[in-house]
Amino acid sequence: MKLKVVLLASYELGHQPLSLAWPLATINEAGFDVLAQDLSVETLSIEAVEGAGVVGMAAPMHTAMRLGVQVAKQVRTINPNAHICFYGLYAQLNASYLLQRVNGALPLADSVIAGEYEAPLLNLVRTLENNGDVDSVRGVSTPTAYRQPNLERLSFPLPRRDTLPSLDHYAHYIENGTRKRAGYVEASRGCLHICRHCPITPIYEGRFFVVPAEVVKADIEQQIAAGAHHITFGDPDFLNGPGHSRRIVKWLHETHNRITFDFTAKVEHILEHRGLMHDLKSLGASFVVSAFEASNDRVLARLNKGHTVSDMDEALTVLADAGLSVQPTWTPFTPWTTLQDYLDLLAWIHSRDLVPNTPPVQLSIRLLVPPGSALLEHRDRDTWVGDLDAPNFVYAWQHRDPRMDSLQREIANLVAQKGGDAAFANETIFNTIETLAYSFAGLKCLSHSAPKQRTKPPPRLSEDWFC
Ligand code: SF4
Repeated sequence: MKLKVVLLASYELGHQPLSLAWPLATINEAGFDVLAQDLSVETLSIEAVEGAGVVGMAAPMHTAMRLGVQVAKQVRTINPNAHICFYGLYAQLNASYLLQRVNGALPLADSVIAGEYEAPLLNLVRTLENNGDVDSVRGVSTPTAYRQPNLERLSFPLPRRDTLPSLDHYAHYIENGTRKRAGYVEASRGCLHICRHCPITPIYEGRFFVVPAEVVKADIEQQIAAGAHHITFGDPDFLNGPGHSRRIVKWLHETHNRITFDFTAKVEHILEHRGLMHDLKSLGASFVVSAFEASNDRVLARLNKGHTVSDMDEALTVLADAGLSVQPTWTPFTPWTTLQDYLDLLAWIHSRDLVPNTPPVQLSIRLLVPPGSALLEHRDRDTWVGDLDAPNFVYAWQHRDPRMDSLQREIANLVAQKGGDAAFANETIFNTIETLAYSFAGLKCLSHSAPKQRTKPPPRLSEDWFC
C-alpha cells in the first residue's frame, strides 16, 4: 500500500490555499493518496493524521508558521512516526529552529523545503515510500543536511481544488455593498526585486517564475465554475511579467467579460507601466494593492523599496486617471520611523483621501525581521536589532523612543477590538488612532474631519491583507 500523505495549511490570507492545491495536484498525479486540509476553516482529522506516513505543513508566511508549529506539535503527539515536512518561505527562514533537537526530543520538523517546493516534496514522499535516504533528496533540508531553497523551474500542474473547502468559506469581493465569491490564482511566483524587509528576498534573491498561461487560465476557469465572480491575482507582483499578465487578463475579459479582478503591483511598476493601467481597467481590474510602506523617503530607502514619496503621489495620479482604486499597504512601525513620521503618515493618508482605502490593521503593522532577512545584512544592524526570538520566528527589536512601542501595542489592541468589516468605519477608527498618536506626542489633534459623504466605498476583499 502506498504511503499516505496529509497536507495542512493554517492560514493563507483568507484565500483557498494554493499552498495546498498545488502540492496536492503534484503528489496526487504521482499516484499517492493525499488528503489536504485547510485548518483555518476545517478541523484537523485525527484519523487521517494517525494513518499518515508524511505530513506536510504549509508555512508561506509568519502567521501560518506560528499556527503551523502548534499543529505540528499535535501531529507529533497523535502520530510520532509520521515524517513532518514544513514547506514555504517561512519554513526555510526558520529551518534551524524547526530542525533542532532539544534535550533529545524529536524536532518540530523532520525536513524543510522552500522556493519551488512541489517537486522536492514529491521526491521526498517517493524517497520515504522506498525507505531511501532523505538526506540525499535535492532541495530538502533535514537535521543532518542543509539545502538552499529550490529554484529549479517546475512543470506546474493544474492546482487541485475539488477536495478543498468551497469558495464560500473564503474572502469575498465587496463592491458597492455587494459581496461576491472570489477566486485566487498566481500567474508568477518569486519576485524580481529585493526589498530588504520582504521574506521573498532571501528565498528567491531577485528571481521569479512564470506560471504557464494555460495553467493559470484553467485554474481561473475551475474557480469560475465553482462560483467565483472576481479573481485575485496573488502574485507577489503582477507586473514582474507585464506581457504575461496582460495576456491572461485579456483572455479573461474576452472569455468572461463580467469577471473583475485585483492585483498587486509596486509603485515603481505602476509608474513604469503607466500606459497599461487604462488597459487593465478596461479588462476588468477593479483595484490594485500596492506596498507604499512609508511616507518618508529615509525609511523607504532603508527598506530598499525603489520608490519615493513623490513617486507614490505620481502613482496615485496614474491610478486615478485610469479609474483604478488603490489599497495601499504600510509598515508604519520600524526602528527608523519616528513618532513625527507616524503623525506625518496619518496626515499623508488623510490628505490623499485614502482613509477608506486603508484597512485599520495596516496602521498597526510592526516590522517583522525573520531569520535570514536582508535587513540583517546592513552594516548598522547592531545599532537596532536584538536577539533572535526563535520560537516567535523573529529578531527582537525595540524602538529608541519607547513611546513608539507602546503606541504600536495600543493601536494593535484597538484595531483588534474595533477593526470591523465596513470600509466607512475606517474613518472612525482612523480618527481614534490619530487622536491616540497625537496624545503620545503630547499634542492635540486638530486635523479630523467629519466622514465624507461618499457615493461609493472603494472595492475591496472582505479579508484585509497582512502577514
Ligand atoms: S516588490 Fe514586493 S514582493 Fe517584490 S521584493 Fe519588494 S516587497 Fe517583496
